[in-house]
Amino acid sequence: MAFNTIDCNKKIMMKSDAAQENNADKVIVIGGGIIGIASAHYLNKKGFDVTVIDQGAIGGGSSYANCGYICPSHVLPLAEPGMVKVGIKSLLNPLAAFKVKPQFRMAMFRWFYQFAKRCNHQQMIEGAYHLKSMADDSKQEFESLLTGTKLEAQWKKNGLFYVMKTQQGVEEFLTTDHILSDHFDLKARFIAGAHLTDFDPALKPGLAGGYLYENDASLEPLEFIINWSKNLANKGVKLIEQCQLIKMNKRNNKILSIDTSKGEIKASHFVFATGAWSSHLATELSCHIPVEPCKGYSVTIDRPAVCPEIPMLFPEHRVGVTPFNNSFRLGSMMEFSGFDTKIPSSRIKQLYQSAKPYLKSSLDIVNEKPWYGWRPMTWDSLPIIGHVPKYDNALLATGHNMLGMTLAPSTGKLVASLISGEPHAIDPKPFSPNRF
Ligand SMILES: Cc1cc2nc3c(=O)[nH]c(=O)nc-3n(C[C@H](O)[C@H](O)[C@H](O)COP(=O)(O)OP(=O)(O)OC[C@H]3O[C@@H](n4cnc5c(N)ncnc54)[C@H](O)[C@@H]3O)c2cc1C
Repeated sequence: MAFNTIDCNKKIMMKSDAAQENNADKVIVIGGGIIGIASAHYLNKKGFDVTVIDQGAIGGGSSYANCGYICPSHVLPLAEPGMVKVGIKSLLNPLAAFKVKPQFRMAMFRWFYQFAKRCNHQQMIEGAYHLKSMADDSKQEFESLLTGTKLEAQWKKNGLFYVMKTQQGVEEFLTTDHILSDHFDLKARFIAGAHLTDFDPALKPGLAGGYLYENDASLEPLEFIINWSKNLANKGVKLIEQCQLIKMNKRNNKILSIDTSKGEIKASHFVFATGAWSSHLATELSCHIPVEPCKGYSVTIDRPAVCPEIPMLFPEHRVGVTPFNNSFRLGSMMEFSGFDTKIPSSRIKQLYQSAKPYLKSSLDIVNEKPWYGWRPMTWDSLPIIGHVPKYDNALLATGHNMLGMTLAPSTGKLVASLISGEPHAIDPKPFSPNRF
C-alpha cells in the first residue's frame, strides 16, 4: 500500500545511531489503524517527533472496510440488558448475527463473565455517558479535519437512518430512541412508513418507518486513513509498514526501546494502538488488557443504479449499508471466534439477504470485495486509553469496540494530552487501564 516505499533502514534508528540521538520528544506509535493514525496526528500537532509502525499495511486492520459511520447514535454499549440470552441462543443458530463460538480459553471465560455482569440498565447508561463525551469531542474534531474538504474522505453529514420493516420493530426501537433522547439529547426524526419512499426512493414500499439521527455522519474509512496518513507523512511523521513489534526492552519502570522485525527503535514514549491484538501485550506490559477480537464482515460492490443516499441500518435484520461515491457497502455480524480469519461465503450471502427486504435494488454483484475485521472489544464497552500502570512512558490506546472510527479524533487528542501533560478535553478516568 501507500507507504511501502519508505526506506525503513533510514527511518529506524539503529542501536549505534540511537546512542547519539536525543529521544526526548520521540514517540513510537505501534499500530497504524485509525487509532494509531489519530494519535500520530495530535502528537505531531503538539510538536512530537512521531513514527508509526504496523505489522501489515497502514489501515489494513479493522479500520479497512468497516461501515464508516461516525455515529453518536450508537453509544449504547453492547453490554445491555438481554445480551446474555442473545449470546446463549446464538450457540444454536449458525446464522445469528451475534455469535459466540465456544472456546476453552480462560481469558475468554473471564471476559464473558465480566461482560455478563454489566448487562444491566444502570451500567449501560453509565458506559454510554462516557462514550457520548468522547463522541461529542470527536465530532468537533471531525468538523475541523474534514469540512471544506481539507482531507478527502467522502465525508457526508446526512445522518444515519434506522429503518424498520415491521410495526413491532418500530415499537421496539422506540425504547432505544427514548433512551438516546432522554439521557443523551440524541433526537431522531421519525419518518412514517407511508413517507419512506419519498424520503429515499431506494427503499422498498411497505416498510414500517424509520428514525433518522441527523447528527450522525459517515466517511469512506480507508480513503480517510490513507489520506490522513499521507498528510501526516508530509508533516514529517514516519510511517513504517510490515514492521512488527517483537519485544520491549525495559529498565525499571521505563521502556527504553522496542525490537521490531526491522530493527530496534528507541523513543521517549510508546503508544500501543494495536486494536484486537492488544491482549498479546499484556504479559510484556505487566497489566490486564481484556480485549477480545470480535469478527465482523462487510462486502463492497459497485454502486447500484438505485442506491440509498443516506447510510442506513436495518436493526431487525442486523445489517448496515453505506453508499459511497462509486461503491456500496453492507456490513454486519459480531462473532466472538478468536483470531479466526475465514470469510464463509454463507456469511457474505447473508449480508445481501438481510438488506434485500429493504432495498429496491436487486444488488447485482459487480466488483465484489468481501472483508472481515476484528473489532477490539472490552467487556465494559469502553476503550482503554492511558498510561500503563507499571511503565511510565507506555500508553495504551485500544479497545474501541464498535466505535473506533467515531472515537478516533478524541482518542488521539487524549493520547497527546496525556503524553504532553496538558489539560484534557474529556475526563480520562473512565478509560484508564487501571480500571482492570
Ligand atoms: C464490520 C465492521 C463494521 C464497523 N463499522 C464501524 C462504523 O461504522 N463506525 C465505527 O466507528 N466503527 C466501526 N467499526 C469498528 C472499527 O472498525 C474499530 O473500532 C476500529 O477500526 C479499531 O481501530 P484500531 O486502530 O484500534 O484497530 P485496527 O484498525 O485493527 O488497527 C490495529 C493495527 O495494529 C497493528 N498491530 C497489531 N499488533 C501489532 C504488532 N505487534 N506490531 C505492529 N503492528 C501491530 C495491526 O496490524 C493493525 O493494523 C466496525 C468494525 C467492523 C468489523
